[in-house]
Amino acid sequence: MQGLMMDTPLLISAVIDYAAAVHGETRITSRTVEGDIHRYTYRAAHQRIQQLAHALKNLGINTADRVATLAWNSHRHFELYYGISGIGAVCHTINPRLFTEQIVYIINHAEDRYICVDLSFVPLLEQIAGRLPRVEGYIILTDRAHMPVTSLPNVLCYEELLQDQPQQFDWPVFDERTACSLCYTSGTTGNPKGVLYSHRSSLLHSLTLLTTGDRSLGPDTVMLPVVPLFHVNAWGLPYALPVVGGSFVFPGPKLDGASLYEMIEQEGVTHAWGVPTVWLGLLQEVKRRQARFSTLRSMIIGGSAAPRSLIETLENDYGMDVIHGWGMTEMSPVGSTSILSPAMRRLPKKKQHDIKVKQGRALFGVELKIVDAKGQRLPHDGKAFGELLVRGPTITSGYYNDPQANENAFDAEGWFRTGDVSTIDEHGFLQIVDRTKDVIKSGGEWISSIDLENAAMGHPGVAEAAVIGVPHPKWGERPLLVVMRTSPQAVNAEQLHEYLSDKVAKWWLPDAIEFVEELPHTATGKLLKTELRKRYKDYQLPTLEN
Ligand code: AMP
Repeated sequence: MQGLMMDTPLLISAVIDYAAAVHGETRITSRTVEGDIHRYTYRAAHQRIQQLAHALKNLGINTADRVATLAWNSHRHFELYYGISGIGAVCHTINPRLFTEQIVYIINHAEDRYICVDLSFVPLLEQIAGRLPRVEGYIILTDRAHMPVTSLPNVLCYEELLQDQPQQFDWPVFDERTACSLCYTSGTTGNPKGVLYSHRSSLLHSLTLLTTGDRSLGPDTVMLPVVPLFHVNAWGLPYALPVVGGSFVFPGPKLDGASLYEMIEQEGVTHAWGVPTVWLGLLQEVKRRQARFSTLRSMIIGGSAAPRSLIETLENDYGMDVIHGWGMTEMSPVGSTSILSPAMRRLPKKKQHDIKVKQGRALFGVELKIVDAKGQRLPHDGKAFGELLVRGPTITSGYYNDPQANENAFDAEGWFRTGDVSTIDEHGFLQIVDRTKDVIKSGGEWISSIDLENAAMGHPGVAEAAVIGVPHPKWGERPLLVVMRTSPQAVNAEQLHEYLSDKVAKWWLPDAIEFVEELPHTATGKLLKTELRKRYKDYQLPTLEN
């Protein structure tokens, strides 16, 4: 027997309609590329989003057409999320940090009809426009006064497009499984792969995010999303926060520690989401100034493992509540958050940090399993580790138009292979040990490069650390620690080795330590280990007796 309830589709347009109706006075602040601070409310954003919808329709954008964005976190980018998806088209967010060749590939693969671009990225598009045969025009996200002289063909001015359009648009109603947005993952090998989200998956993701108990998702929040709108939907914030009426402070193009600190203080930011490197940069700046945060209370850290030292410093020295999160582009993206239970919150701080270095518990609707090399399930005892697979309504069922990428992406039961190696403990907390490709196999046993890196990052002289396996005649592979120091005098190899000796098992200690000026990163700020492995391919480890 079927239930007798209305079958109203879950559509993204409903979020912004709701936010305007219920939280109309809530503010959205952004630092623009032009340099000023823009302020308005959800109600005003709603009107402009509807003007944008009219403008896109006038350009002939139809259901399923792809319209790309190449932009920083700003009010205009936020408007594009809703305007494009609201009319049934697909908002394709492009990560400007991808290699140029990858950007060309994804624009052509997605068959974008228009690209909405911030002034900062116009030169990038000018270089490649000749290789983008399907792009019909470029919408520059600025007003007439700031329009650049450009070689781009068919250029339109965003503010002019919106001007004079009616402020009321009747959103179409369609199947909730219709695609709403598209984001390409930036793997370290091969072409990027497209993840095509639906209205249903995006709405479910934002609603489940709101059930985690994360206090940064509430009506009193002044949220600084440093996590970019150009990658993984800014972790779902643009859809989740408007539902509860939290306020946004978009940082625009200025993501260095000093600019972020100033924005946080000026705008009374209470919560911020971003990757560890961003918070390391911010901390360095705050220490340099010997400053404090007057309003910031909590940070969500994800995208890469949050080093214990970062969690400890933020919580012990700056009074923050740190939440560690894990996810993937393929998961909309949040998979788990380290929200503590009331009993865990009563534990001494040190014990709480033991839990917070883990990546947390699954969001409602995300099923997790870890398996051995034969695909057999492993116990959730916090010790056994194996490949992590996921299943649920906010997880991809296949990459967009890419049969080859889909070949090995799922197991026989249809679970998605994350490519992460993890443990899961009896409370359901997962801990990422490594990427499957990055684990170091020494004498048949696995060494977690993430754990070693985190231990090294605990030394005050270490700005960033990477661990890779290098060939060893006896053990197969042994760890090499590559370190960027805070200054050349900050620490030497012997001191670092000594520091690590009581922090990890003896046989995990790196056989060698190399110091570098800078570590290579992917377009999403993760350590680019393929590059490091290439660089140290013929590395001769010192012959120690291990
Ligand atoms: P992306 O699709 O760019 O978001 O990258 C997803 C990958 O980032 C995951 O599969 C993990 O390998 C890594 N990742 C994300 N969050 C974390 C975290 N908190 N700790 C460790 N690795 C993470």
